[in-house]
Amino acid sequence: MAEATSHEILSFSHEGRVFPPPPEFQKKAHIRSLEEYRALYAEAANDPDAFWGARAREELYWKTPFHTVLDWKPPHAQWFLGGTTNLCYNALDRHLPKYAEKTAILFEGEPGDVRKITYRQLHADVCRLANGLKSLGVKKGDRVGIYLPMVPEAAVAMLACARIGAVHSVVFGGFSSEAVRERMNDAGAKVLLTADGGWRKGGVVPLKANVDAALPHMPSVEKVVVLQRTKNPIQLGPKDVAWEKLVEAQSPTCEPEWVDSEHPLFILYTSGSTGKPKGVLHTTAGYAVYVSLTTRWVFDLKDDDVYWCTADVGWVTGHSYVVYGPLMNHATSFLYEGAPTTPGPDRFWDNIERHKVTILYTAPTAIRAFMRTGDEHPKKHDMRSLRLLGTVGEPINPEAWMWYRDVIGGGRCPIVDTWWQTETGGILVSPLPGATPTKPGSATLPLPGIFLKVLGKDGKEVPPGQGGKLFLAKPWPALLRTVYGDPERYVKTYFSEVPGLYFTGDGARIDADGYLWVMGRVDDVVNVAGHRLGTAEVESALVSEGRVAEAAVVGRPDELKGTALVAFVTLKKGVESSAELKAQLSAHVIKEIGAIARPDEIRFADALPKTRSGKIMRRLLRDVAAGVRTTGDTTTLEDLNVLAKLRGDEE
Ligand code: ATP
Ligand code: MG
Repeated sequence: MAEATSHEILSFSHEGRVFPPPPEFQKKAHIRSLEEYRALYAEAANDPDAFWGARAREELYWKTPFHTVLDWKPPHAQWFLGGTTNLCYNALDRHLPKYAEKTAILFEGEPGDVRKITYRQLHADVCRLANGLKSLGVKKGDRVGIYLPMVPEAAVAMLACARIGAVHSVVFGGFSSEAVRERMNDAGAKVLLTADGGWRKGGVVPLKANVDAALPHMPSVEKVVVLQRTKNPIQLGPKDVAWEKLVEAQSPTCEPEWVDSEHPLFILYTSGSTGKPKGVLHTTAGYAVYVSLTTRWVFDLKDDDVYWCTADVGWVTGHSYVVYGPLMNHATSFLYEGAPTTPGPDRFWDNIERHKVTILYTAPTAIRAFMRTGDEHPKKHDMRSLRLLGTVGEPINPEAWMWYRDVIGGGRCPIVDTWWQTETGGILVSPLPGATPTKPGSATLPLPGIFLKVLGKDGKEVPPGQGGKLFLAKPWPALLRTVYGDPERYVKTYFSEVPGLYFTGDGARIDADGYLWVMGRVDDVVNVAGHRLGTAEVESALVSEGRVAEAAVVGRPDELKGTALVAFVTLKKGVESSAELKAQLSAHVIKEIGAIARPDEIRFADALPKTRSGKIMRRLLRDVAAGVRTTGDTTTLEDLNVLAKLRGDEE
């Protein structure tokens, strides 16, 4: 395998195309071989306490050392007991002796404004806001809401909370007034940090107006701190404080609050693909250790990298891999405020070219949207600075994976397809880019310390290649600790399917090489005439035909087959829908998977319903396919019109 070039396709296994790590990349990587990975994996398996204890001492500065690595009383885990630390100190202060003048945050606003914030400046900004929050009465353990655009102050706000032991709860800036109200009330936030607005698609998202509408219905919120982002005048109400005023008089130093390992760090509401969002609670030390370590393992960070994770700080990916992970690794994290299509469809590629981005981490939904608009846009730009690509959020169709690799990565960059969840805090399954041969569509192997189990209906482990429910057999440091305010929901959702095992909610199979293939949510895995089909695989078959941009496949109750397959399909630019195309798509699925996967119905659509984080909401499509009205929660849906159009109850 060592001699193979990145263009060669190896017959690594019985299944799929295999790409070894590109030799140029591999030479300089932190972890360079599967053997090294396997040794780490074995170390973690043989003595988890010794493994995590050593990692915790390496990754963090501890004010007080911990005396116990793990206290595991299923379903409750506590990590690094007796220790005290501070995540903000680990992300900033620790680096000042060596990296004070290094750019911590490189920011570009949608209008094109650029800011470079060094570690020294970021530290001072964070301390000022931390002192400002204290002056408003925020104390250790108080909850602070953050509803900001994707500007550096969003990171400053999170870090300031962590510095004083306040618990942040970030609400994605694209969410509505109702969503803010619901989340702030659930969290009992004392202070809410917002901005007058943020730039998106050339317009201003009215954040302050949304907060104003919610404020009378958020009794716990005592103060609203308002950042001036646009030049529009701001009307300050009785509870409002101008951000600039609040920080201007504050000292640029602030002693960090040394908190217990298990002190709550943040509450983050899940994206709501499957139902009502859950307030996922993460605590300090376990989260910090795990996120710091996985950032280096998965992204193979080097001192001169310009790292860009395109996620908004409103999602867990933004928490772990825009803010905390990169900063704990003294990296340069690039933040971009606006839409990928403003002013033109090449904005991302333009950003990469101008800022010489070296690592790009984005979502399959974005990649499919870029594929749909055509190769000419990325091809206009010199993106040779890129050396590593990543994806997260949904299964990536092999077709999109190949496009990402060839058109964006120039065939030269390894791809890390990272499987994880809000609840897992950090990446659990991913290639190590210098070590793991990749297969398009597979998240590959579990990271050291992560133990996967795929169980069948009978609760027994299924043989390789067979689908089942995905569980995690042992706790890891960044496992959520509870659902905020609803401890029963924690037990019920994650630990009641099989007592003692964490249930992911995903369906998956593990192939003969030990590679993970996520089939979709268990609710999305359909049973057709006795065969279990992963919707992700049927969707990938449709996309691989070449003319389909995106596909979502769901089951509809059927008297004969039990379940019939309905495919919702959007087409690439310039492709016309026709009955003939439907027949050709069906034939293609039969060729790729077999007659069992042939869609019973194909419906062309302009767009698919998605969460605001860009995930296809199949539970809504199931209702559409079955012709019933949706009764579930739709507050996280991106565009209600999409749903209306699919149902045909508009116009
Ligand atoms: P909710 O839990 O509220 O229904 P959600 O599950 O979409 O929302 P997240 O925590 O953001 O909220 O998403 C985690 C889920 O995303 C995983 O369980 C999985 O289904 C999917 N996912 C994430 N990354 C990948 C990946 N690389 N491959 C396949 N699926 C992925
Ligand atoms: Mg989930």
